[in-house]
Amino acid sequence: MNILISACLLGQYCRYDGKTKVYPQVQDLLGRDDIHLIPVCPEQCGGLATPRPAAERQGKRVVTANGSEVTAQYQRGAEAALYWARLFHCTKAILKEKSPSCGHGQIYDGTFSRTLTAGDGVTAELLRAEGLEIIGESDLP
Ligand code: SF4
Repeated sequence: MNILISACLLGQYCRYDGKTKVYPQVQDLLGRDDIHLIPVCPEQCGGLATPRPAAERQGKRVVTANGSEVTAQYQRGAEAALYWARLFHCTKAILKEKSPSCGHGQIYDGTFSRTLTAGDGVTAELLRAEGLEIIGESDLP
C-alpha cells in the first residue's frame, strides 16, 4: 500500500523554520514491507523557499505574519500533493498536524497567536475532498 506522507515527518528539513519534525511512529512504518511511504512537502512543491516566513490560513487565504499573501503557492502545493497521490494510487495520507498546508481537524486561527481553531490546511482539505483518508501523526498507533 502506498501512503502519501508529509516529508517533514520522514526527516526532510523542509519546515518553514528549516527544521524537521521526525516522529518515531512514522519511522517504524519504514520497516514495514507492506507500506510504501511517498513523501511530499506541499509548501516546497508550491514554490516556497526553506526557511520561509510562517503563514496561517485566514479563511480561504493564506498569509504570512507581515501580511504577504501566499495563497497561490499553497494551492499549487496542494495540487502537487494530489498529483503525487494519484500517481501512486494513494488512498491514505499521513499529514503533519496543525500545519496551514498539512494540518487536519485543527489549525492555527490566522492571528499568529498560537491559537488553534477547527479547520484543515489547504492540502489536507483538497486531499480529503478527493476522497483520501487523512491521518495525523498522533493518530498512529
Ligand atoms: S508543508 Fe507539510 S510537509 Fe511541508 S513542512 Fe509543512 S507540514 Fe511538513
